[in-house]
Amino acid sequence: MTVTTLLPQPDTRTGRDRLEVLTALISAPSFDPLFRPDIIKVPPNHPVYRWNCLSADCDRSTMGHGDLCSSHEMLWRDHRDRGGTRAEFLRTAPSVGPGDGVEQRTCGICPERPARHLTLELCQYHEFRWYNHRGRRDGDADFDSWLLDQHPLPGFHSCRVQVCPEVADSPLGLCFRHERRYRRHGRPGGATLPSQWGTRYGRRGLVAPVSYEDEHAFERWCASAVAVLRPAQVNLRGLHPLLQAEIKWGMFAYTQKAHGRWELVT
Ligand SMILES: [Zn+2]
Ligand SMILES: [Zn+2]
Ligand SMILES: [Zn+2]
Repeated sequence: MTVTTLLPQPDTRTGRDRLEVLTALISAPSFDPLFRPDIIKVPPNHPVYRWNCLSADCDRSTMGHGDLCSSHEMLWRDHRDRGGTRAEFLRTAPSVGPGDGVEQRTCGICPERPARHLTLELCQYHEFRWYNHRGRRDGDADFDSWLLDQHPLPGFHSCRVQVCPEVADSPLGLCFRHERRYRRHGRPGGATLPSQWGTRYGRRGLVAPVSYEDEHAFERWCASAVAVLRPAQVNLRGLHPLLQAEIKWGMFAYTQKAHGRWELVT
């Protein structure tokens, strides 16, 4: 969930008092520590804020108001139309592999680089090396023995978007989704990597230099860009401290009552 709506600020004195009260409540031992950080990570199968698909072992997020991810929803409709029951479907539904939106994953070889290929858990560089290796052997290559010969490469540090907790996907300094958004916004400040940097630098394990038309404009974009949507996460970074505390307390208080689940993806 990304919180983008700023509530009107109460007058300073009342606001300060309320922040003090909320901070004390949030620090109390009875408060669930899950809701203390500025980035709240909700585990799968949470009794109130469940975000993951109901099908066994599926770690994709649910679609709309349903209980299933989009792939299992399609499989379920098919199963139902053939006269199958819900219980039977949930017991026997096949795995549909990892989704791309739940959380950033790390390369199984480079602990500082994000995985581009989610099933193999490989960064862009190692994905290229694996396909290249497999291609040279006409598809007859053993992944596990190839893995033993690989070495980790250094990462590209944290994403430069101030509110973003993810790691950068390239020397440009942005995570995959912010890099995509940066391009969509017309590249303010003109941060650019050399042409074909992947072939000239990335595939050889070298770090490509970044050039800017106006680095301050790029930094301003990074300071104002909003967080990427992750269904298992509530990102409160960049919000007013009182609003952060209100949301933490509100989310916790909601779990203390008897009622249905709240959807994080809105
Ligand atoms: Zn699913
Ligand atoms: Zn890697
Ligand atoms: Zn980012």
